[in-house]
Amino acid sequence: MQELIQRAKEIIEKRYKKGYHSVGSAVRTKSGKIYTGISINSQKVDICSEWSAISTVLSEGDSEIEMIVAVKRHEDGSFEIYPPCGLCRELYVTYCPSAKIIISETEVIEANKLLPEAWKKRV
Ligand SMILES: [Zn+2]
Repeated sequence: MQELIQRAKEIIEKRYKKGYHSVGSAVRTKSGKIYTGISINSQKVDICSEWSAISTVLSEGDSEIEMIVAVKRHEDGSFEIYPPCGLCRELYVTYCPSAKIIISETEVIEANKLLPEAWKKRV
């Protein structure tokens, strides 16, 4: 858990750019690999760092996501673990419903529990 938080901090510290990139994510898969991503913001669209990290996981041919964290870098250089927004919760339910999501320095919750009663494809 601490290693994942550290990796998320490192990627957003390295790529932080005010108004463009302020959140970093780290994702660990069953393979043991850690993938990172950053938020991408334009005038009208904000893409959460979790989407870019999970996109990298899938692009690399990996898939079994075990744990995820998102860390916000504030302008003053401090960091804060960010619980996932609604769109990210939907992303988790779609791609990694049993993944453990770090939502604070001391709390981890299964993705399914972050979006109870999620829609399901009907046959
Ligand atoms: Zn989000």
